[in-house]
Amino acid sequence: MHEVSIASEIIEIVRQNLPDGFDNKVKSVKLDLGEFTNIVPEALKFGFEVLTEGTELDGAQLIMNILPLKIECQICENVSLTEPGYFFCVKCGTDKVNIISGKEMKVVEIEIYD
Ligand SMILES: [Zn+2]
Repeated sequence: MHEVSIASEIIEIVRQNLPDGFDNKVKSVKLDLGEFTNIVPEALKFGFEVLTEGTELDGAQLIMNILPLKIECQICENVSLTEPGYFFCVKCGTDKVNIISGKEMKVVEIEIYD
């Protein structure tokens, strides 16, 4: 379950962004999570809960904003939504496409208690 190591990465990022001398609790952590990351949101949530137990992140809500898998055609520049495994342009049929969204895993917001 690689979600546990991803959860620990997230926790590390949160800690680095907490103010100096922070001795309160983190309320929530907002994440941008691409659909094409092989991360199972439920497993990530579970890993996060286990790893934060008894820490300043204990009870913090992990809010995940799932971003769809989006590709852009290198030939006709058409942008379309797709699914993993279907990497071709729906307009002209080429497989020369770039993934422009769907691989994100980014902490975008941290909310703390005053
Ligand atoms: Zn195209």
